[in-house]
Amino acid sequence: MAKTRSSTGISNHSSSEPPTKKVKITTLRMAEVGSSTRPARKRQAAPEALDDSDLPKRISSAWKVGAHVSAAGGVENAILNAAKIGGNAFALFLKSQRKWTSPPLTAESISSFKARMEQYEYPSSLVLPHGSYLINLGNIDVAKREKSYECFLDDLKRCEQLGLTLYNFHPGSTVGATTTEKSISLIAECINRAHKETEMVTAVLENMAGAGNVVGGDFAHLAAIIAQVEDKTRVGVCLDTCHMFAAGYDIRKKEDWDATLKKFDDQIGLSYLRGMHLNDSKTPHNSKKDRHESIGLYAPTFLDKRTGHSRP
Ligand SMILES: [Zn+2]
Ligand SMILES: [Zn+2]
Repeated sequence: MAKTRSSTGISNHSSSEPPTKKVKITTLRMAEVGSSTRPARKRQAAPEALDDSDLPKRISSAWKVGAHVSAAGGVENAILNAAKIGGNAFALFLKSQRKWTSPPLTAESISSFKARMEQYEYPSSLVLPHGSYLINLGNIDVAKREKSYECFLDDLKRCEQLGLTLYNFHPGSTVGATTTEKSISLIAECINRAHKETEMVTAVLENMAGAGNVVGGDFAHLAAIIAQVEDKTRVGVCLDTCHMFAAGYDIRKKEDWDATLKKFDDQIGLSYLRGMHLNDSKTPHNSKKDRHESIGLYAPTFLDKRTGHSRP
């Protein structure tokens, strides 16, 4: 079984309750552990197809839970890694998340990815690729924003080459050089531009922990970006529970979770929710710090079993 330190999955506030609204939830990114796509200079041999009898049975549920899986050796390997842990959904990096440029996807990689998606029965709506960490579409510096935009567009095009319909990314930062409002407009402008240069992929904004100049800690930021996106059918949101908690949204108890989701619904709309990252937080509520902890392991703040805090 693949090693994923933090739990990974999409979850409702109560797994026994069906969602009250039809929310198209897809996948969660959890651990960054083992999630490098480092394009090997020398391509690693693709693993053999898995023996189906060795695969864990996938749980049948309306909630599609998975992990951020490694795509080392080629994006097509992510599918095997997801199947090996019985994931109903998965997240991956489409290229090195810490480099500005990466070699293009090979035709072989693309066809193998598509074949395995069919073979292992993953619909594209249950795959949520995560964007490069370098991208900042809210940068007021034109040259730097353009560099980010190129990297963003490249990611979106990779999604489309692979037949993937969703792409999750961090909205951006003012870098202290402009107002949040201006950054929000720049981010929306980049999304609008990218929509015209691609066919169908949905840009999925992630909520952030709200540190310093980062845009997206407040639901209002995401709502303002979406308000300025022309094609609202191709924009969505992925909620990270660590980020929510650190940003000041209390989700420790069921009633807190319900109240937070109501805020989300009022300000953004649950129809925009495309996925969740289920992470715990190492730092206290409203700390504005982005420090993930694995769900299920000891965390002093959010899901502390000893204090009886319930899982969202
Ligand atoms: Zn993220
Ligand atoms: Zn984070």
